[in-house]
Amino acid sequence: MRPVQRGSIPSDPQTGQKIVFRKYQDAKTHLIDKIGHYCCYCEKPVTNVRDVEHILPKQHYPRLQTIWHNFLISCRVCNDIKGRSLIRRKNFYWADIDNTFRIFEYNPVSGNVKVNSLLSDPEKSIAKNTLDLVGLDRKPGHPNITPADERWKERFETLQVAQEAFSDLQNNDTPEMRKQIISNAKGRGFFSVWMTVFKDDPEILKRFIAAFPGTSGDCFDHQGKAIHRPKGRI
Ligand SMILES: [Zn+2]
Repeated sequence: MRPVQRGSIPSDPQTGQKIVFRKYQDAKTHLIDKIGHYCCYCEKPVTNVRDVEHILPKQHYPRLQTIWHNFLISCRVCNDIKGRSLIRRKNFYWADIDNTFRIFEYNPVSGNVKVNSLLSDPEKSIAKNTLDLVGLDRKPGHPNITPADERWKERFETLQVAQEAFSDLQNNDTPEMRKQIISNAKGRGFFSVWMTVFKDDPEILKRFIAAFPGTSGDCFDHQGKAIHRPKGRI
């Protein structure tokens, strides 16, 4: 899961004042500007962002329904699975406050997602809650997979494209090729898949981090490796 920095409440360009959102829908374009049009859970591109995603559901936390710091972006599938259940922030890791890139492993062959085996037991338990919150490990054969849920497929197809790009780069390492890979990655989404396939190429890792809008740069060292997020829990 890509860690993001939403930044402070956007200002009105005319008055310079912080915007007070009357409706949460008004925050959508500001949010896309800040963190890109990618689902903050499964990382797929969301072409038609319906609404902002409320981290704490508005049904249970009505006062947070127009609060900037409660907003993320999610795809329809992740949003439906997460649903309206009563949740507390502390039981999950969140892309806006934690280094969520550290909590999962993306299998370089199948693209399957699982909890990072290097975490401590308490960390694993929160990571597992996060995985289950949006069913990131669902694929054909999973008891709860629905026909609309093709996240596994899009992730796998992106993995194949990334692997092809990786081998092209071995054969022909040029600045143009690198530029092309960055643009391809932005178009297809799934930040973590690209970061996994190119894990030993610091130059391109740093460019993925810079290219996906709002990626939290302080979650990575100068080699592009994930580190503890300052003030985060992981
Ligand atoms: Zn999603």
